[in-house]
Amino acid sequence: MSVFSEPAATPSALLLLGRGADPTAERGVECPGDLPPAADPSLIERARAARAALGERAFILGHHYQRDEVIDFADVTGDSFKLAREAAARPEAEYIVFCGVHFMAESADILTAASQKVVLPDLAAGCSMADMAAIAQVEDAWDALTDAGVADGTVPVTYMNSSAAIKAFTGEHGGTVCTSSNAERALRWAFGKGERVLFLPDQHLGRNTAVLQLGMSLDDCVVYNPHKPGGGVTADELRRARMILWRGHCSVHGRFTRTCVDQVRERVPGVNVLVHPECAHEVVTAADLVGSTEFIIKTLESAPSGSAWAIGTELNLVRRLARTHPDKHVTFLDSTVCYCSTMNRIDLPHLVASLESLAAGTVANQITVPERVAHWSRVALQQMLDLPAN
Ligand code: SF4
Repeated sequence: MSVFSEPAATPSALLLLGRGADPTAERGVECPGDLPPAADPSLIERARAARAALGERAFILGHHYQRDEVIDFADVTGDSFKLAREAAARPEAEYIVFCGVHFMAESADILTAASQKVVLPDLAAGCSMADMAAIAQVEDAWDALTDAGVADGTVPVTYMNSSAAIKAFTGEHGGTVCTSSNAERALRWAFGKGERVLFLPDQHLGRNTAVLQLGMSLDDCVVYNPHKPGGGVTADELRRARMILWRGHCSVHGRFTRTCVDQVRERVPGVNVLVHPECAHEVVTAADLVGSTEFIIKTLESAPSGSAWAIGTELNLVRRLARTHPDKHVTFLDSTVCYCSTMNRIDLPHLVASLESLAAGTVANQITVPERVAHWSRVALQQMLDLPAN
């Protein structure tokens, strides 16, 4: 039986696990209400009791990157899009408890009935990538494109991992949402409609899809940096570009480097390197396989017994894959731990507090998207559902 070797802990990893605090490093707010201490030995019993009291009135969604202690209480697990659809398919549930991050709970609120309430157990569980594209910055970028005379031929495409305001912007400007599974289809559709794409907010997914799946060159891409005047690109560069990539990235997948790939190949002979497309281009091109979270899970399911895999995605998921596939050698691509710090904010104490407050009739930490934003977000999400097959 294969034994998963834990990557080395780092001081920052302890912070990511919630032991410590760095208020300057994360956007977020305090969670209202009393939080049970993590050491409370009755937490599991309390969660079970509150869950039972709520019955079918509550539906608990757990993203693949959540901790095991949370996943154990999820009615369904999945990636962000699957979870939003699962929420929409449960009209009988009065409460959707979303164990994920803020933009996911927004999508669930957009896709569920007005009578349903979506709750995020910790309001500080944001997504650092989604936070890298604020609506005011994107509107400024559109003005820059307009000044360069290219806005009319540009189709905005936003990754699911973006705020509802960015999804709404995309819907209002004739674009679409995409996921890491359908980014190629979204780009092919967009290039059938316009000459260039403004891809938000993950530059790596945009670049990897354009170059590796649509056959563009790296020179077809420019990076728009919202922290520089005019995005740090000239009007000529905007006019020449086919892909205008927003300068955003995932703080988890951005940690994997080409060196990680080289080192794991030395450490584990015959290893297959499997990474998420949010990784940098040099990592993706050095890997054997690239694909979404669901692709990574399915690839492991169908891999032959005895095969070796180095996985470049969030550590909670990789550890779970190692446990569910003891006949395969599963290792983490990086040699140090790499959790999604914001996902990890949701732990058993937050889940217990959420469930107990709902069972007592108090809705804490509800996520509500204003109707106008929800309308245009729905337009962009519907466009994604309507994307033609390749
Ligand atoms: S893993 Fe990356 S993209 Fe996903 S929620 Fe965390 S920071 Fe955001």
